[in-house]
Amino acid sequence: MNLELSEEQAAVRQLARDFVEREIAPHVVAWDRGEEVDRAIVKKLGEVGFLGLTVDEEYGGCGGDHLAYCLVTEELGRGDSSVRGIVSVSLGLVAKTIAAWGDEEHKRRWLPGLTSGEYVGCFGLTEPGTGSDAGNLTTRAVRDGAGGHVLNGTKMFITNGTWADVVLLFARSTDAPGHKGVSAFLVPTDTPGLTRRTIHGKLGLRGQATAELVLEDVRVPASAMLGEEGQGFSVAMSALAKGRMSVAAGCVGIAQAALDAAVGYVGEREQFGKPIARHQLVQELISDIAVDVDAARLLTWRVADLIDRGRPFAVQSSKAKLFASEAAVRAANNALQVFGGYGYIDEYPVGKLLRDARVMTLYEGTSQIQKLLIGRSLTGVSAF
Ligand code: FAD
Repeated sequence: MNLELSEEQAAVRQLARDFVEREIAPHVVAWDRGEEVDRAIVKKLGEVGFLGLTVDEEYGGCGGDHLAYCLVTEELGRGDSSVRGIVSVSLGLVAKTIAAWGDEEHKRRWLPGLTSGEYVGCFGLTEPGTGSDAGNLTTRAVRDGAGGHVLNGTKMFITNGTWADVVLLFARSTDAPGHKGVSAFLVPTDTPGLTRRTIHGKLGLRGQATAELVLEDVRVPASAMLGEEGQGFSVAMSALAKGRMSVAAGCVGIAQAALDAAVGYVGEREQFGKPIARHQLVQELISDIAVDVDAARLLTWRVADLIDRGRPFAVQSSKAKLFASEAAVRAANNALQVFGGYGYIDEYPVGKLLRDARVMTLYEGTSQIQKLLIGRSLTGVSAF
């Protein structure tokens, strides 16, 4: 793997840095305190091309590679994980899955809007009773006799949920022959019978629109199905395999932001008559962060490289997500320690980094679930 960025990749990273500096950084604290990112950011992300990075140009995307996607995701994560998550879900989990599994009609219907930021997408897998054990989901899809389905059930913790125009929804079609009988549907959120409730009081990602979705007799036509009937679990797992790389890249961004903040602070703050940078135990804290940043970034870039070369990547993606998410929590926690009491108030950035990092070890498969996926690939034995 070539670890040098191409000119194009370096330019994309710079574009993302400038975007974060201009459009995100000035608002981060207000969005976090107000529990809402300004929705205008979606259009801006679309205009600069970040919502279509890896989607083909004929559907409004930029046709870029996955390393470029990681670079942008890292920079957005460095700026504000709430904004990063909008892209990771709308592009990473929804648009890319439509591009991979959709027919021509699906692609023409949804991709130009998702890549431009006219539409927001959300990914509806988790339910109140099924998180890690997603294959046991209970939302039901029953054939309506006219080729379509009637959907009933509840989805929980859905990122972008209240903002979304379309939900990539997973439901058990009882008469489907495929794996676990789960099918994937593209459901416009204005379909009668679909209601949404914002989930407030999150520890982190406070600016993000996380929601519960309730489906009561939601009717969708045959054309709403993504992939074949019964293929839905494979659709979900393939989306998450790539999605985990995106989460990992966001975590690299958090860890890098923690490092930047800590390095900046140790030169300014004096205790015992000298800058705290001159205390060896403080240097230990920042060097631990720096090693976590590098290791997490290299694992993440390796996934991007494998995807771009058409090689198997799912297990590497689990490794990158597992390591990077735990590293981001450690890095933000170490940075908070460097800031002492000032780290505990939100005038300084590290407390938010820690709160935002914490969920990364939970969603798109908890750390325990990543270990089971890695363990299964090594032993050939499923321990779920
Ligand atoms: P559980 O599955 O109940 O797990 C509880 C504990 O048990 C965990 O520690 C887990 O690791 C452990 N555990 C479970 N099974 C095993 C096992 N076999 N072996 C060992 N340990 C085990 N979901 C979506 O579909 N779309 C989204 O956009 C989305 N966004 C989210 C945003 C936020 C802010 C949050 C908090 C969650 C989001 N989720 C989303 C849901 C997320 O993916 C789930 O929370 C996650 O998969 C864990 O499921 P759970 O919360 O039900 O925990």
